[in-house]
Order: sequence, then C-alpha cells, then structure tokens
Amino acid sequence: MTRIDDLPVRDELRGQSPYGAPQLDVPVRLNTNENPYPLPEPLVARIAERVAEAARHLNRYPDRDAVELRDRLAAYLTDTTGHAVTGAQVWAANGSNEVLQQLLQTFGGPGRSALGFEPSYSMHALISRGTGTRWISGPRRDDFTIDVAAAERAVAEHRPDVVFICSPNNPTGTAVSAETVLALHDAAQAVRPTMVVVDEAYVEFSHHASLLPLIDGRPHLVISRTMSKAFGAAGLRLGYLAADPAVVDAVQLVRLPYHLSAVTQATALACLEHTETLLGYVAQLKAERDRVVAALRAEGVEVVDSDANFIQFGRFDDTHAVWQALLDRGVLVRDNGVPGWLRVTAGTPAENDAFLGAVRTALKQN
Ligand code: PMP
Repeated sequence: MTRIDDLPVRDELRGQSPYGAPQLDVPVRLNTNENPYPLPEPLVARIAERVAEAARHLNRYPDRDAVELRDRLAAYLTDTTGHAVTGAQVWAANGSNEVLQQLLQTFGGPGRSALGFEPSYSMHALISRGTGTRWISGPRRDDFTIDVAAAERAVAEHRPDVVFICSPNNPTGTAVSAETVLALHDAAQAVRPTMVVVDEAYVEFSHHASLLPLIDGRPHLVISRTMSKAFGAAGLRLGYLAADPAVVDAVQLVRLPYHLSAVTQATALACLEHTETLLGYVAQLKAERDRVVAALRAEGVEVVDSDANFIQFGRFDDTHAVWQALLDRGVLVRDNGVPGWLRVTAGTPAENDAFLGAVRTALKQN
C-alpha cells in the first residue's frame, strides 16, 4: 500500500496530520464550535430565492470582486462595532480558513515565518506549513493569557513576518485586550514590517468589544471574521477580513479567479438580510455558555473564563478517558491535545443538559 510519505510530498508536510475533528454521528455534537440552531425557515426561503436568481446566470462567472457582498459585510461590521468600514476594506473568501491562507500566501511563504501563541487554533500552524511558511510556537501563561513581555521577547528573537493573535482564543476561550494587541503590533513593527492578524472568529460571543477600530492608521493589522459561528452558517463557507484597502488589493494577487461562487455570494447576501434574527441566537448561546460554566464550576470542574461559544474545562489526569466516557453517553466534545483539558461547544439548552448530565456520571467513574 502506498502511504503519503512514499510520495514526493514537500519536506515540511512529511509526518503532518490533516485537520481532523471527528465527524461522528452521535446525538449531542458539541465538538466543532458550530451554532446548534438551524437557519430559520424564512431565511431558508430567501436563500432559495436568491440562489434561484443566481442559478439563472450560472453560465457566467460570478462577480470576481464580490462587490455587493463586501459592501454588505462592511455594513454589518459598521452596524455592530460602531466603527465605519467600507467595502474597499473588506475581503471575503470560502471560510476564514481561506482568508488566512490567502494572507499567508501573500505575506508568508518560503523563507518567511509566522508566529502564534499556543495553544491556539491549530489551523494557523497548519496553513502556515501548507503555504511553506515556517511556524513558530510562541508562549502563553499557564492561565492561557498572553504574557506581553514574553511575547515581545519571542517577536524580537524570531523576527516573524506574520503574527497571529486569536481573540477570543480557540480552544481556551480567552479574549485578548486591545492594549496587548497594540503592544505586540508595535513590538513587531520595531523589528521588521510584520502583518498582525487578529482572528476574531468568535468575537460576537465575547464580553469584550471587537478590535476592529484598531485597523485605522495601521496598515499591517488585519481582522479576520467568519459567518460560520455567530451567523450559524458553517456549511456556507464564508469568511472575511477587514483591513487597510491595500491589504485587500494585496490578497487579490494570490486569490484564484472567481474563488467565491455565485451560489455562495447569493446565500451569504440572504443571510446578511437576516442578521438581526441570527444574532438573536448569539444572546441565547452566551447565556447558555455562562450557565454551563457555572454548572461545571459547581461540580468542582475547572473552567477557563470564556468569551466564545465554547468552554475549555479540566483538569483531568486522563483526558482521553473522560472524552471517551462522555462519548459513551452520546456526547461528543473535543480533545485539542491541551494536556488535562477538553473543550465543549455551547449547544441548545437540552444539549447542554445532556452534556452536564454526562459529565456528572463520567466524573463519578473517572
Ligand atoms: N478561526 C478560528 C479561531 C476557528 O476556530 C475557526 C473554525 N473552527 C476558523 C478560524 C475557521 O472557520 P471558517 O473557515 O469556518 O470560517
């Protein structure tokens, strides 16, 4: 049998594993930070209408620059942050993973490096490697916050071309303050011109405001967002960034022509017409997250403060045994490989109750 390493794959891909959150068919799936609420029927109908209209023109390539969509995303950012953003400052792609990939293709690549503070979103490292960018693992404190002095030392030592800051951080749930981001941004620029990418995939669930206003006057600062979480549209595959218009021009050097299909653009536009309804679920999920945090703490389980739609909980001597015990009770959570900790996504009240019930029995046995 031919194995991957028998093929002439690039050296930096040898021995690596693909992104692989298990997609298991179990009653309670709380492992990939999805929104548990299906899109409301009026929105489903509107998507069908918009997609039907797009289908009438599928003989033609889609709007390559996705102008209407970027204008609508800019309006969403302006409305929700109070900070005025234009379509020229927004770029969209197939999920924020593709946005991050385009950023690394543009600002990373062979001979260049990217630094992130781990544990964090594993795809930052994987996409770096996939684009030939050397990955540097920066430090976090034991409580998973970023130690600015240690981070500045890492930046000075490694001189990265790209710095990732995930806020709220996946998998820990920790938000990063504007002061920390600014300190890191300035420290990095003092070493060399460095792109600082703030991954705000979960920011709608945060107690803290978006760091979007920081892009003003800072052409090296990029905010990455997604419709996969707060909008409940993970299946749509729509991510976007906000930055200086020059960054938007730069990523167009690497994007594939017509990367965003007409069907995707039509669906995303329909979702953006229903922003208010969709964000209504965010308030419910935040309340449920806080309820689960309190219930876990009442059980004596350690929980990292969460600004996201997921919770990191622990600490367990045998993380895998607890993961398996929960799965045996029909509840799938995520083992991100952070020793002693597991991560659970906030679901519906019923799903969260099932999770809490499973934790109680699992704890008795482990
Ligand atoms: N950033 C973070 C921090 C994430 O957790 C995820 C998805 N789990 C993404 C980006 C990518 O999401 P998507 O490609 O669906 O936008």
